[in-house]
Amino acid sequence: NLLANQIAAGEVIERPASVVKELVENAIDAEATQIDIIVEDAGQSLIRVVDNGGGIEPEDVPLAFTRHATSKINSRHDLFNILSLGFRGEALPSIAAISDVTLNTTTQVASTGVMYHIKGGKQVSQTPANGRIGTVITVRDLFYNTPARLKYLKRPKTELAKIVDILNRLALSYTKIAFSLTSDGKSLLKTTGNGHLQQVIAAIYGRDVAQKMIDIQGENDDFNVSGYVSLPELTRGSREYLTVLVNHRFVKNFAVSNAIIKGYGSKLMIGRFPMGVINIDTDPLLIDVNVHPQKSEIRLTKEAELSELLITTIKQRLSQENL
Ligand code: ADP
Ligand code: MG
Repeated sequence: NLLANQIAAGEVIERPASVVKELVENAIDAEATQIDIIVEDAGQSLIRVVDNGGGIEPEDVPLAFTRHATSKINSRHDLFNILSLGFRGEALPSIAAISDVTLNTTTQVASTGVMYHIKGGKQVSQTPANGRIGTVITVRDLFYNTPARLKYLKRPKTELAKIVDILNRLALSYTKIAFSLTSDGKSLLKTTGNGHLQQVIAAIYGRDVAQKMIDIQGENDDFNVSGYVSLPELTRGSREYLTVLVNHRFVKNFAVSNAIIKGYGSKLMIGRFPMGVINIDTDPLLIDVNVHPQKSEIRLTKEAELSELLITTIKQRLSQENL
């Protein structure tokens, strides 16, 4: 089973940023309103995620590190309406198979919390511990027993940039959660969790950028689109700064970003792209989710209708601004 976990880890955990993503998504699933992420050496020596979510019952802790023991999916119906982010029960066992993990967790119900230590997939200890309600998970020495993986990692600067990227996306997706990211003692991101998307945009891209964003809002029978896009004067050389969220999950969909760009018409210079964060809310049944958790590409059943909506929404909004 340790082997199975290591194989799964090879799929799920490519790099430190994958660990950050899985741990933070667990905290979100646990309904945390504050999530603090601390990394050292771009996550290679330490990744710690502190949340104020529901915690794990003491007797469930070893189970959380067992493959496919997730409680998040109960039926086929759930699979098609994936609301929680994790649903395969693979992340924690995978991470624990290739690192040194300590988990300190306390629930509202349990009178005492638990300190659990697992290294290389083997439980080291489990002791009662006191802590505030929520979970602190610390991952040390990632890939210590998989030297081949370790060799694949890019320079620390690049790995850290990938962590920052993941956090930025999550902060933009969950504006009601207060996030902080600290790397080697330096604060890289801090959001308040007050629900204002424009403030999160300011926290990530700077105030000057946020001030050059305009809010958009539009709907048809199947889709509701909202968010912020940049004034045509504020552009970038790639579409990387156009964040698209479908039902609060970051996605990659060429048709959607194309439609946003099209909405600007000739107002954009050739080779320039707008910045923006667009939320698309829709019936999960219209999304063809590729259930592999690492893939963010999705297909939409009514892509043409959505494109039309985006184009007209942006066009109208820009003309309102006399642009
Ligand atoms: P999944 O998220 O797919 O269910 P994981 O391996 O990521 O699987 O997590 C296993 C289980 O551990 C989760 O289903 C959840 O019950 C519990 N868990 C993990 N992290 C947290 C957390 N931060 N707060 C509360 N429960 C957690
Ligand atoms: Mg998970």
